[in-house]
Amino acid sequence: MRWEELTSDRFPEAVQESGRVCLISLSVIERHGHHLPLGTDMYEGRGILDRVAAMEPVIVFPDYYFTQIPEARHQPGTIAIDGELMVKLLDNVCREIARNGMDKIVLVNAHGGNRGLLSLFPMLQLYHPQDYVLYVVDPIGKPMEGVTVPWEATENGHAGPGETSMMLALRPDLVHMERIVAGEGRALGRLKPLNEAGVVTGIWWYADQPHHYQGDGSKGNAETGEQILNNRAEYIVRAVRAIKADSEARRLQDEFFARSAAPSG
Ligand SMILES: [Zn+2]
Repeated sequence: MRWEELTSDRFPEAVQESGRVCLISLSVIERHGHHLPLGTDMYEGRGILDRVAAMEPVIVFPDYYFTQIPEARHQPGTIAIDGELMVKLLDNVCREIARNGMDKIVLVNAHGGNRGLLSLFPMLQLYHPQDYVLYVVDPIGKPMEGVTVPWEATENGHAGPGETSMMLALRPDLVHMERIVAGEGRALGRLKPLNEAGVVTGIWWYADQPHHYQGDGSKGNAETGEQILNNRAEYIVRAVRAIKADSEARRLQDEFFARSAAPSG
């Protein structure tokens, strides 16, 4: 059930049917090489969660794309919300979902660059008592059983054949295969001496992939895209079923907040 498609009258019933579970796809608006649209992650996230909702009753939050992408600010069309606001906005959105009756909020990652945000954000929940539990599910980069892809693992990446395939399945009208520049997707390795010494900087992605294109998108095809979308949807459905069955996270969370309010008794 997509939140924005429900009527207000029907909403309370839908909350019950969903088991009070709401899924938000965390996507972003950023460059995806020459051949894919800025909203690629948004379309992928939407396509995957629509498939999830067809298999398991859940409420799907409207498209949400104000996430982590400062590394693409040099590229036209990027929407990179300030870091502080990004965290505050997501927290506000979670509280709005809870106010509307859902006490299991599931952040589903749809943008590889969100890993930093998705490590920090759940831990920030521990500062203040909540009347909901926040769960994170990240299907990106996980093994895809039963999906055979016509490319090597080293040929995939951001805007590479995997994402190209999903977009060919979802919105072929927005894909421009003829604009792919052969060889542009290789990593430039401009900070190799630092990387080899185990040093990380915030400019690491720009150093390697300034074009925001990784791998070889020309190997993408719609049929594989459909398989990837279904595989990721099944991965998330499995997670949602575990979340629906879970009561321990909430119990421990309540216990933790009670103890952390007065740790010395
Ligand atoms: Zn993407």
